[in-house]
Amino acid sequence: MNGNIRVNPKTEYIENLDGLPFPARELLPMDKYQQINMPHGSIAKSTKNTTLITSRGCRARCIFCSSTKFWGNRYRLRSAGNVLDEIEHLVKDYGIKEIHFEDDNLTLDKERARQIFQGLIDRRINILWNAPNGIALWTLDDDLLELMKRSGCYEFTMGIESGDQQVLSKIIKKPLNLKKVEPLVKTMKRLKIRTRSVFIIGFPGETKVQMRNTFNLAKKLRLQLADFFIASPLPGTELYEICKGKGYLKKGFDFTELEFLNSTINTPEFSAEEVARLAAREYLIYNLGLMLRNPIGFFMRYGKTILQKPIFSIGMVVNKYLKKAIF
Ligand code: SF4
Repeated sequence: MNGNIRVNPKTEYIENLDGLPFPARELLPMDKYQQINMPHGSIAKSTKNTTLITSRGCRARCIFCSSTKFWGNRYRLRSAGNVLDEIEHLVKDYGIKEIHFEDDNLTLDKERARQIFQGLIDRRINILWNAPNGIALWTLDDDLLELMKRSGCYEFTMGIESGDQQVLSKIIKKPLNLKKVEPLVKTMKRLKIRTRSVFIIGFPGETKVQMRNTFNLAKKLRLQLADFFIASPLPGTELYEICKGKGYLKKGFDFTELEFLNSTINTPEFSAEEVARLAAREYLIYNLGLMLRNPIGFFMRYGKTILQKPIFSIGMVVNKYLKKAIF
């Protein structure tokens, strides 16, 4: 208004997500996406993959997460039938063979999650699936994991975040009990669901010993992939407000520089540079360990991406990790 940007407050949310049409994929160059094949997390078993969202929001309140700001700390769901209809449409009309669920929390409503996975089996929809955006571990159990596997799940990202219960409960405020993690990972390995988790270090109040607990847990779990990210004070999050209030934001802090491998927080316990170096080093050490332990598995997983996009792959390792780890 008058040349100024005005953000109106959000007054209502769409409750009936089944009332929304399926995305107008006919307007998109779907075949080009498959040719380029750059899925979230760089991993897909089939080039004929696409994304799908079955719910909006999450009921947890992790301090770093923008989901609650975006969706209003509510959890709204599409019905299992509506989700299955869209998947059938994708298979039939676009030849899709792999779905990437991009929900914030696909299994938060366990009964609906069961209906989707059982529905894939009952309707004989023969697809593979992944959940690269993460699945809340506290919603899982062995029965659900087995059903996930039978319905085509070959991998999902776990949001363990920290290997230190104090950091999880008191700082991040994630409702995850670490005691649950090891048995679940064991079941995933038995079922041959690939194990991958994101971890985050560098929260205000976190000590270097607690960061070490995170690296140690990742090693102990022997995951097939571990990402070590750095806490990013995204606008509107509680993390941002804490850092701003305590004067922890780096001098010249700029939202446009926020990226999960950039460190922008200085606290009495650590400097931004120390955290950046630590995250990059641990990532390289972890992945070198994976390569040495299981070179065939490593190549099966990354070989295709490296061979298809060698410059991109080398550039990413050098710029995002090696330079930070050394300097
Ligand atoms: S559980 Fe995941 S989606 Fe929910 S608030 Fe925490 S980080 Fe965000």
